[in-house]
Amino acid sequence: MAEKQWHGVSRAEFRWNPVIDYTKCTSCGLCLLSCGSGVFAWSKSQETYLVANPGNCVVGCTTCGRVCPELAISFPDDPTHFVKAAIVKHKIFPAVKKELAARLEKSPDHVVDAPRAGDGGGSNG
Ligand code: SF4
Ligand code: SF4
Repeated sequence: MAEKQWHGVSRAEFRWNPVIDYTKCTSCGLCLLSCGSGVFAWSKSQETYLVANPGNCVVGCTTCGRVCPELAISFPDDPTHFVKAAIVKHKIFPAVKKELAARLEKSPDHVVDAPRAGDGGGSNG
């Protein structure tokens, strides 16, 4: 299987994933339901949710941490700081540019013909 990448850099380079504080977790399961990347799993034997696939976590994402009602999920850093540091270290923008070109080519619905909000055309005065 191909190695996971983050904009041309091995995903393994980035230690970004949620950590559950089990002194706070009530096993509500919202983290599993809120993650589209298959990071969490239910452990039948331990009767709790686990960060089963940390390498699937999207670098910079904090969605599960924001929906956890017990504030039981933390990340290794502030996401903006982490991603900015990763951008500077790995100089990802050439790869980002190529990925964007491929995405817009493949997904025409991502291209619209509309002004930006606030660029005129509104009727606020
Ligand atoms: S959302 Fe928070 S409290 Fe609920 S199972 Fe996940 S970590 Fe535990
Ligand atoms: S931060 Fe985002 S991608 Fe990572 S586990 Fe939470 S919801 Fe999933």
